[in-house]
Amino acid sequence: GVVTRFAPSPTGFLHIGNARTGLFNWLYSRHHGGKFLLRIEDTDKARSTQPAIEAILDGLEWLGIDWDGEEVYQSRRAARHAEVAEALLASGNAYRCYATAEELEQMRAEQRANRQPLRYDGRWRDRAPSEAPEGRPYSVRIRAPRDGETVIQDEVQGRVAVRNSELDDMILLRSDGTPTYMLAVVVDDHDMGVTHVIRGDDHLNNVFRQLTIIRAMGWPEPVYAHIPLIHGPDGAKLSKRHGALGVSDYRDELGILPEALFNYLLRLGWGHGDDEFIGKEDAIRWFDLGGVGKSPSRFDIKKLEHLNGHYIREASDGRLAGLVAPRIETMIGRNLDTQALELLTKAMAGLKPRAKNLNEMAESAAFFFKSRPLDLDERASELLAGDATKLLQCTYNGLSALDEWSEEATEAVVRAVAEQAGVKLGVVAQPLRAALTGRATSPGIFDVLMLLGREESLARIADRTN
Ligand code: GLU
Repeated sequence: GVVTRFAPSPTGFLHIGNARTGLFNWLYSRHHGGKFLLRIEDTDKARSTQPAIEAILDGLEWLGIDWDGEEVYQSRRAARHAEVAEALLASGNAYRCYATAEELEQMRAEQRANRQPLRYDGRWRDRAPSEAPEGRPYSVRIRAPRDGETVIQDEVQGRVAVRNSELDDMILLRSDGTPTYMLAVVVDDHDMGVTHVIRGDDHLNNVFRQLTIIRAMGWPEPVYAHIPLIHGPDGAKLSKRHGALGVSDYRDELGILPEALFNYLLRLGWGHGDDEFIGKEDAIRWFDLGGVGKSPSRFDIKKLEHLNGHYIREASDGRLAGLVAPRIETMIGRNLDTQALELLTKAMAGLKPRAKNLNEMAESAAFFFKSRPLDLDERASELLAGDATKLLQCTYNGLSALDEWSEEATEAVVRAVAEQAGVKLGVVAQPLRAALTGRATSPGIFDVLMLLGREESLARIADRTN
């Protein structure tokens, strides 16, 4: 069966480009009823961190991308990598290179001076082991083929070929005995039974070197699919300059729902006709490598927010309230109790229609929970200036006289006040909105009156009339 893997290096946050690679691997294996494995490539001890590992695991879980079995930590497999290097030595497919760092530096300096490509010249490739300098450390190098070419049939890139004369005898084990990245990846993929390697096309050039090792070991060759990287709206490779990059930034700072990012990343470089909203099940049903485009896709936050709005409207009120609440708590500096959460849940119907992200929802809903007297934003202050206070006083009088606190009854009051003053409804409703919410935009004002209740509504209006 199909076995795919996601092999991120834990050197920072979970980059959304990497998350998309993970997603494509996951979808491919789930589509084929295969396995999806996770390997943490933490061999770079200096740059790999525990928080970065956690960001990867969290980010995948949040997106709903589950992996089979325990995650594999590459750094724990160094002995196995060395074992394969030894096997290659034994079969004559690798050799010991005793060149010193200075010697190699001089070789490169000469190549530079002669405008030759910088690559190891194979100086120890054919020397007898008896020539080895006593006690000098050595690295282990692959004995790469020098004639002909290496060709792959990439599922996305098509046929890609490299002349073997362009490849050099790369290092497998450094002189300190540690495995190189090229060796580690190949050994791990083999041992994990990986059948399909789906990854960013920044790794396309590595295939040829990796195949040299695979062929020397006589191992089965995986199918390769190198997917184009994600670019920013300006066409340049997505980088810090383009703003948020980590999956957690989209979740925490931008208030994006996981299903929206899932759908967005899926459609970034893969398509299924004109379908825009694609949920998990359809994604699994439809995903194939043939649908992956060859050219880089551009990241477009507007499209992501459009999808996010769609999924916000699909989400249950209770779930949304749970996601919005912590954001409001940060804004108002205290926790929301059960009653407040109930209010927030009821408020969702009015907040959902226009919302693009959870932060906006929190901003729009925070007024419910702020203490009196409310802070007014600039436009709310303007709405409450001048004659508005008189109208607001009339509204207060009408509302406080009501027997029944209902949307119909409160609306009738506001209409009557407008009619009596000979003004449009909005002239009365806008200052009322400003008094109740401290803002010039909010969910429907009669909805707000119901949610706040009689006592709180009247108190907020009174704050603005005297
Ligand atoms: N660890 C590599 C990366 O994060 C991926 C290696 C691979 O997929 O072969 O770019």
